[in-house]
Amino acid sequence: MHSELEPDRSTRALWAKRVLDHLDDFIDNLPDAPASWDGTGGPPSVVTEPAAGPRPLEQLLTEVAGAASAAVETAGPGYLAYFPAGGLYSSVLGELLAQTVNRYTGVASTAPGMVALEQSVLRWFCREFGLPQRAGGLITTGASLATLAAVHAARTARLTWTDPRAAIYVTEHTHHCVAKAARIAGFTDDQLRLVPVDAELRMDLHAARAAIERDRAGGWHPFLIVGTAGSTSTGTVDPLPGIAALAADQDLWFHVDGAYGGGFQLTAYGRSLLAGVELADSVAFDPHKSLFLPYGTGVLMVRDQETLRAAHSAHGDYLQDLVHDTGLPDFADLGAELTRDSRGLRLWLPLHLHGVDAFRAALDEKLELARWAYDELCADPLLDVPLRPDLTVIVARSVAGDDATRRLLDRVNAGRRVFLSSTRVAGRYALRLCVLSHRTHRDRVEEGVAAIRAAVRQI
Ligand SMILES: *Cc1c(COP(=O)(O)O)cnc(C)c1O
Repeated sequence: MHSELEPDRSTRALWAKRVLDHLDDFIDNLPDAPASWDGTGGPPSVVTEPAAGPRPLEQLLTEVAGAASAAVETAGPGYLAYFPAGGLYSSVLGELLAQTVNRYTGVASTAPGMVALEQSVLRWFCREFGLPQRAGGLITTGASLATLAAVHAARTARLTWTDPRAAIYVTEHTHHCVAKAARIAGFTDDQLRLVPVDAELRMDLHAARAAIERDRAGGWHPFLIVGTAGSTSTGTVDPLPGIAALAADQDLWFHVDGAYGGGFQLTAYGRSLLAGVELADSVAFDPHKSLFLPYGTGVLMVRDQETLRAAHSAHGDYLQDLVHDTGLPDFADLGAELTRDSRGLRLWLPLHLHGVDAFRAALDEKLELARWAYDELCADPLLDVPLRPDLTVIVARSVAGDDATRRLLDRVNAGRRVFLSSTRVAGRYALRLCVLSHRTHRDRVEEGVAAIRAAVRQI
């Protein structure tokens, strides 16, 4: 019997063609699309409630296009703000495959093949990061949730539940998702210690040791220290080997936040810069940043998969039929989610379809572009470029000060060929340029640098 909810093959083909054509037009237009939205017309008026009967796909696609256009062009080559990724089309197709076969991957026995595919990607990441054989992981929706699972695993491994005297060590440049995860996990703000940083904004190891020893002497229980492999503000990498040594010496869980920097582990340069990550107890990493995936994909790796299981596994009578001896992980036991989408294919398909070298080459290209942009901006006497970038984030400011730098950013963004964001370095306002999208190449970075140099002369 025909069902409105199960279109026949010819209808499916028609719908798919329309949607894919729509996407092709979108992608082909990206180089010319404005880098940001000028805000005119106010928020889009997608307020139509679902009707009782069907509406034409064409009309719905027009509404989606309208809604998507009222936005910063995060998919385009001019997006140099925050962490651009672009959104690989191959990943979109992987997602389409995964969602259509709709396998249940919370427990391995219901779809061991798809779980094995997902696990193969995780195991490969663990090896690339130098983690031991017993390592394991979980694909999450982003680094924030990966971090939450890591904090909870660390607490389960090192503490007796929510110890009010437990202490966590971060710096002011640690991403706020650590503080958020700690809060959700039941810790209070006074359990988070801000370790000072050195002149290059890296964790000061002497200060960290002193803080830990002082706390211990004062009856606190230091249990977790976080090193950042590519800070959000400036892309700075903390001294990971030193933090690892300190963590080992002081018996702390060592978490590395590689949300942004993690992808660079695939490159020779990144691997030497991130040396020490192989000593981590847990690593968070965002393929929706440095592997160019669409938003919604984070990875957590742990040194010992059992630590994740110990922290998350649970049981319900309604699950008693499910066998657990597949030799594969039951992802529901490793994180907060029970039912989850089959997340492996969105990574597996791009990695296999393009090959790993394509990712290495693209990441090396971004590093090279960032070095080039840094040199160009440094050469301008009207700009102050306070830090040599470790990765692909460059911060710069007008020598005329904070207000001038704010105007500089507004003027550059008003051109709508590139879109930059801002941050603060040593308390002072700085514009922030990040080269990371797979769609950003030399021409657009040159345009962005030229726009900055022109604007700094006009403010
Ligand atoms: C982006 C980012 C996060 C948070 O990741 P989400 O994927 O946005 O949840 C954590 N840490 C660092 C260093 C980041 O750059």
